[in-house]
Amino acid sequence: MQATSEEANGAARTVRLTKEYGSGDTAVRALDEVSVVLPAGRFTAVMGPSGAGKSTLMHCVAGLESPTSGEVFLGDAELGSLSDRQLTRLRREKIGFVFQAFNLLPTLTARDNILLPMTLAGTTPDQAWLETVVKALGLGDRLSHRPAEMSGGQQQRVALARALVTRPRIVFADEPTGNLDSRTGGEVLAMLREAVDDLGQTVAMVTHDPVAAAVADSVIFLADGRVVDIMPEPTADRVLDRMRDLGSH
Ligand code: ADP
Repeated sequence: MQATSEEANGAARTVRLTKEYGSGDTAVRALDEVSVVLPAGRFTAVMGPSGAGKSTLMHCVAGLESPTSGEVFLGDAELGSLSDRQLTRLRREKIGFVFQAFNLLPTLTARDNILLPMTLAGTTPDQAWLETVVKALGLGDRLSHRPAEMSGGQQQRVALARALVTRPRIVFADEPTGNLDSRTGGEVLAMLREAVDDLGQTVAMVTHDPVAAAVADSVIFLADGRVVDIMPEPTADRVLDRMRDLGSH
């Protein structure tokens, strides 16, 4: 059987991706020829010391920043070949985001927050899928609540539902447990894990927490803008050891 391009190329990948900020003497090379694959239907964590290039990598793969050189593929689409309009549409339809700060609109109910990307895009939700996501995240009895009426963990679950409801090709999670206590953070991580295992979602998560990274299928370690290691089947202890080697605690 022939592998589909998604199996071979991942949900997303970079080819010698380089990103520099500034120019001349003050230029900073945030990413230096990074080639990575984010496998479809898998959970990948990105780790590394502060300033290693984690956020820049995520922003480039999500089409929020354009590379200085190299390529970024989302499925078969090379982001550099797209017009601004195509890129905006691809971001809206194919990418979900979960942020440390939840980024929910305070005046909207949970349900309206979840549906906001589709409302903005003028598309109608697939009701069955919406129900599956809401049920998987245990949000059934919270849909009419506003963010202020929910705990941090519940708010992050709403943010995750919002990311999943468009059935994106990939969900990017940026320190998704950064604002949560460890028990609630553990619950959110378990939900990300379930989104991968039960819903077939591809997830890429930036974190500096070894316990969070251990929930992923593999960990990409960055240092000084380069990939220095890829660890399959991580454990918190092994991730912590590797981070110590990289000079970050
Ligand atoms: P991390 O997420 O691993 O902490 P970043 O990707 O935020 O690392 O940053 C990588 C490097 O690029 C750092 O040296 C940082 O100062 C620099 N950098 C990031 N964003 C910008 C920017 N908008 N302008 C200038 N330098 C930047």
